[in-house]
Amino acid sequence: MNFRKRNILFVFTTIIICCLFASLSPKVNIKKNTQAFAPLNTSFKDSGDYKVSKYVYLTFDDGPTYVVTDALLDALKKERIKATFFVVGKEIIGREIILKRIYNEGHGIGLHTYSHNFKKIYRSTDEFVNEMKKTSKKIEEITGTTPKIIRFPGGSSKRLNAFTLNDLHKNNFKVYDWNVNLCDGVNPNLSVSQLIKNSKIIKGNENLAIILMHCNSNNKNTVKALPGIIKYYKDLGYEFRAITENTPEYYYKFKTKKTSL
Ligand SMILES: [Zn+2]
Repeated sequence: MNFRKRNILFVFTTIIICCLFASLSPKVNIKKNTQAFAPLNTSFKDSGDYKVSKYVYLTFDDGPTYVVTDALLDALKKERIKATFFVVGKEIIGREIILKRIYNEGHGIGLHTYSHNFKKIYRSTDEFVNEMKKTSKKIEEITGTTPKIIRFPGGSSKRLNAFTLNDLHKNNFKVYDWNVNLCDGVNPNLSVSQLIKNSKIIKGNENLAIILMHCNSNNKNTVKALPGIIKYYKDLGYEFRAITENTPEYYYKFKTKKTSL
């Protein structure tokens, strides 16, 4: 083999090796992503969609209230974004018009008990289910729909187990916790910049952000923080979605073996 032929063979071999590397590298990336986005300590079963798409669910608990819920709805309308409101049954009384607005503007409506009284709602599974049913009935009277998506006040951690989940499923309820916490429930007076900072901390699957926010009458800073939160996730390419009965359930792994709530 002369020098010229050897050179051609060297270039040819180099090209083949480069092509081989190029074809292998995407496979390596996909594997890396799959591992990074494996569900952590939740019921969440990755359907595969979340490996390639990024979804954010804005959720607002404890409403409806007049000023705050209304202002949140204005902001969502302006951005053409759908969110989810986990409403408290007793709060609907006298504010039916706000609930109607949530429904008419295409947002998700979830159940968050009727009284939000922890001592009462967590007395027994039956009590908990009855509170959800009572709230569902109230919503049906106003909107004609019977929501089946629910959220535990304070979260399902240490409250949900296989037995209670079975009871909830028998009533067709689906449970949704969160993996991003604005911390505006315990501390509604957090500064707007702190709320936005909190909205960026995702636990577990980074392609899925279920953000816990509140719309009590004192959550005025949450209203002010919302545009910044929306901008952050928009810029990162997340798609905004409302929770529906078709959304995979999202609850924390059971931490107790107790047989009731
Ligand atoms: Zn609540």
